[in-house]
Amino acid sequence: MAISDISENALKVLEKRYQGKDEKGNVVESVEGMFRRVSDTIAKADTKFDNSVDTKKLSDEFFELMTSLRFMPNSPTLMNAGRQLGQLSACFVLPVEDSMEGIFDSVKNAALIHKSGGGTGFSFSRLRQSGASVRSTGGVASGPVSFMRVFNSATEAVKQGGTRRGANMGVLRIDHPDILDFINCKADNADITNFNISVGITEKFMEAVEKQSDYDLIDPKTKTAVGHLSAVKVFDMIVDHAWRNGEPGIIFLDRLNRDNVVPTQGDIESTNPCGEQPLLPYESCNLGSINLVKMLRKTLTGYEFDFRLLGATVEEAVHFLDNVIEVNNYPLDIIGDTTRATRKIGLGVMGWADALLLLGIPYNSDEAVDLAGKVMGYINNTGHAASARLAEKRGAFPLFSVSTYKDGPAMRNATVTTIAPTGTISMIAGCSSGVEPVFAYAYIRNIMDGTEMVEVNPVLVAKLKELGLYEDGLLKKIANAGSVENCLEIPEEVRRVFVSAQDIKPVDHIKMQSAFQRYTDNAVSKTVNFPKEATRNDVREAYLLAYEEDCKGVTIYRDGSREEQVLNIGKVN
Ligand code: ADP
Repeated sequence: MAISDISENALKVLEKRYQGKDEKGNVVESVEGMFRRVSDTIAKADTKFDNSVDTKKLSDEFFELMTSLRFMPNSPTLMNAGRQLGQLSACFVLPVEDSMEGIFDSVKNAALIHKSGGGTGFSFSRLRQSGASVRSTGGVASGPVSFMRVFNSATEAVKQGGTRRGANMGVLRIDHPDILDFINCKADNADITNFNISVGITEKFMEAVEKQSDYDLIDPKTKTAVGHLSAVKVFDMIVDHAWRNGEPGIIFLDRLNRDNVVPTQGDIESTNPCGEQPLLPYESCNLGSINLVKMLRKTLTGYEFDFRLLGATVEEAVHFLDNVIEVNNYPLDIIGDTTRATRKIGLGVMGWADALLLLGIPYNSDEAVDLAGKVMGYINNTGHAASARLAEKRGAFPLFSVSTYKDGPAMRNATVTTIAPTGTISMIAGCSSGVEPVFAYAYIRNIMDGTEMVEVNPVLVAKLKELGLYEDGLLKKIANAGSVENCLEIPEEVRRVFVSAQDIKPVDHIKMQSAFQRYTDNAVSKTVNFPKEATRNDVREAYLLAYEEDCKGVTIYRDGSREEQVLNIGKVN
């Protein structure tokens, strides 16, 4: 079997978290068996639409799609397809209603989702502010942040059977009366650790920042103004906290709703935990990513994108992801119904930075930004065409006739593209994650529960070998610095291409995010890295630039600002 490219580290990850185990924890499934379990299960969905389909042949195709490392579905699909749990989606958004029943229903539903490997996003904006009265008891409400702690503790208690720890997104609208508490709620790195938090920013608020005026705080129950704050002060407070430890992020709510394909179903209030997937309450979405390194072909002088292969891969991937919706075992009936009504899928990419290295294009260059638009534009167009072809055979998504697409060709899926972080599946594919630059050319990665893995970028290894420079001393030097910037023995034109996240200016991070966003239905998972010495004003400017560049959100991280980093630039011995 040809999983020839799979790395040692990938095998470790697969064994630990994906291959089947018996009750004693012994691995009882081969890597091949794991991919076969997935491809067989996903191929079966075709029989619902075509009883003459050759599912064996289709399974072979899906098997090859994954084992060639051209495409990987999100982790829950790899872990759970063909198993008892059968829950295949990474992303969920749950509503949080302003009542005891509503809040604790949501805690329970989140626990069920976490158990199955999914991540949950919530807006806490409907909860009445702290100090508001509670009619039935005559007491006062404790407000969104205190309830977030309940969700956080519940998440902590559900360890997901040792596969995933549980991840949440918490959103609060900028005009909620408790917004200052919310901005501050993760100021201590040890607090609310199972949440990423994002402030839901409105256009109205951004206008007030620009005009340096006050904006209204709105009581979520009565919808009336109950106070006001200086927009600039609140904006600067968000910036200050993000500068301190990366939290909160921001999302632009009106932009998420501008692209809400089915506004009749209500507003989009939140995204999934890493921010790339805006969803309606009770919607879920399954993601999958194309490994761009595998979309390159060799030329006489180097590499180029093979757009024909990319188009064929997109077609297969859209088919695969649409099938996932059919065979998915949803944790709640209402999630199944809501998901099948729009049939959102999220096809994205990984290995972008590695592909650029092979092409010899620096990540922080206009050429790279142009190419990003070209590649993602192609994926988005061919993805939509593939979804339209599926609609001809299988029917449009049920809410198509009330969707914003209704005057165009029928679509099988309300959204097709999303750029995920690909934190684990990029390790399986052995490529750089999502559309992020290479974080460091050699580093130690904490995968879970304190397990550490040392990784050296394979494209750099190959380049050093080609240049006759591959030797221990140089590798150690690169590992210690995390960057090749000061390794003068490497030719200047190579150093210019092998830039790492830290060498790239925030504005270049944002330009790349924006280039991908332009051709992505949903959103783009991206962290804008800052050096340790960056100022609050640098962060402020980046936020404003992301707003101007039509990004849907921003997440920043200043080096060293959290004690325990997932990725550490570090020593390799
Ligand atoms: P993977 O590479 O494992 O498929 P990603 O890193 O691309 O996953 O993350 C995609 C989405 O999966 C996240 O935005 C989140 O919704 C969900 N997710 C990621 N990690 C976790 C986790 N530990 N627990 C629950 N959900 C998670």
